[in-house]
Amino acid sequence: MTRLVIRGATLPDGRSTDILVAEGLIAELGTGLTDTKARVVDADGLLALPGLVDLHTHLREPGFEHGETVLTGSRAAAAGGFTAVHAMANTSPVADTAGVVEQVMSLGETAGYVTVRPVGAVTVGLLGDRLAEIGAMALSRAAVRVFSDDGKCVSDALLLRRALEYVKSFGGVVAQHAQEPRLTEGAQVNEGRLSSELGLAGWPAVAEEAIIARDALLAGHVGARLHVCHVSTAGSVEVVRWAKARGIPITAEVTPHHLLLTEELARGYDARFKVNPPLRRQEDVEALRAGLADGTIDAIATDHAPHPLEAKDCEWDVAAFGMVGLESALSVVQAALVDNGVLGWADVARVLSSTPASIGGLDGYDRGIAAGVPAALTLIDPTASRVFSADDLRGRSVNSPYLSMTMPGRVIGTIHRGYETVRDGVLVDENEVAQRATESREQHRG
Ligand SMILES: [Zn+2]
Repeated sequence: MTRLVIRGATLPDGRSTDILVAEGLIAELGTGLTDTKARVVDADGLLALPGLVDLHTHLREPGFEHGETVLTGSRAAAAGGFTAVHAMANTSPVADTAGVVEQVMSLGETAGYVTVRPVGAVTVGLLGDRLAEIGAMALSRAAVRVFSDDGKCVSDALLLRRALEYVKSFGGVVAQHAQEPRLTEGAQVNEGRLSSELGLAGWPAVAEEAIIARDALLAGHVGARLHVCHVSTAGSVEVVRWAKARGIPITAEVTPHHLLLTEELARGYDARFKVNPPLRRQEDVEALRAGLADGTIDAIATDHAPHPLEAKDCEWDVAAFGMVGLESALSVVQAALVDNGVLGWADVARVLSSTPASIGGLDGYDRGIAAGVPAALTLIDPTASRVFSADDLRGRSVNSPYLSMTMPGRVIGTIHRGYETVRDGVLVDENEVAQRATESREQHRG
């Protein structure tokens, strides 16, 4: 097993410390730590964050392996400083049975870069007609806790109510992609002045806000947990704030791109900026940042949505929705929130690690960086700056909106289950990572 002494790292609260990693755990914190068998990682000037947890990742396997696989998406995640991701269910076949979620989890274990937690579909085939085998997925080896038809909205109120009642029995959560389907038929960009100017069908904010309001009331009625995916409008922040004030068990996430980019980027008809929900106005960006700062929005989730070149390198109206986001997330968060003082690094640790882990029911992340917890760590250089390029992408697709933008911060190290997946700023070779993952599993079995 790997042993590491991380020398002189700065913790999110500003303290400086050495960190001893052994047997897959953070064994000790303190100054002047030594271990003759350990590799020494010089972390002078580096910030240590708890391993990042993504609540919303599209890994595309099974079925869409030309866009991404569990292995390539796991590599992208590790490169971005993540140690766990929740893999969305809109694969082919859809992750609506115990068999598919167990397959996705196993592929993640074999790859070994991150913990892959499958999300189960709410309805069979994401078709919105009848409930999927929620209980069987929860009881499977994958122990699914998050259920979502993401990509599609569970628009039938009765089905959503039944799903909430079902997940309540085992403490699960329904994650809703809030998009009223009739109000967004053919929609291409945020509805408003810009959509009229560009002659593209508008996507009204109310299509998101109306579903969140309805579902919050249903969750309150049932007494079950509702999570709202990728909140994108100022009105949605208000609705979530209202629901929380009423004591409704609701949580919400926002993506990095909705915290930084606006609809103005659609002007060039460059489909890299086409995303669901669409980029909104600067007022919405400001409201989302404020909502995150005051705790109305609980977590940042990437909605990493890889697509092969042919699906994005085409006319705006036929291009696929979505952006890759794992490798850029931390830099975008630094640019949108940290460098302008909206959040401190301790807040970043909360919204990108402990809170998403708690929402997803993932153990080991509730105490942050502390002795005795599983070693999931991200070392970053917040003073670095780089022009973001395709070389920074480690997944199979390159549909990033940030290419050629200057971005702050850089991931120098990622440690998952006590072994390195990123070392000295370079993604560790997949054979070495798979070997370490096998050793880690054997140790936990033995
Ligand atoms: Zn979605």
